Amino acid sequence: MSEETPAPTTAHFVVVKCNDCSKEQIVYRRPSTVVHCTICGALIANPTGGLADFRGEVLRLLP
Ligand SMILES: [Zn+2]
Repeated sequence: MSEETPAPTTAHFVVVKCNDCSKEQIVYRRPSTVVHCTICGALIANPTGGLADFRGEVLRLLP
């Protein structure tokens, strides 16, 4: 289960807050590898071939 990201399709990056340490970081929306938190190493995003499956809270989209 993942929260639905707030729409716009032009955005290439999102700001995601880590579930474990609350660190906010900028993550590519379509990563080809898993993305981990730079602080605590928790899983932030899983690649799906399309938009990533984000595990942290998606705070906003970056154009
Ligand atoms: Zn973290």
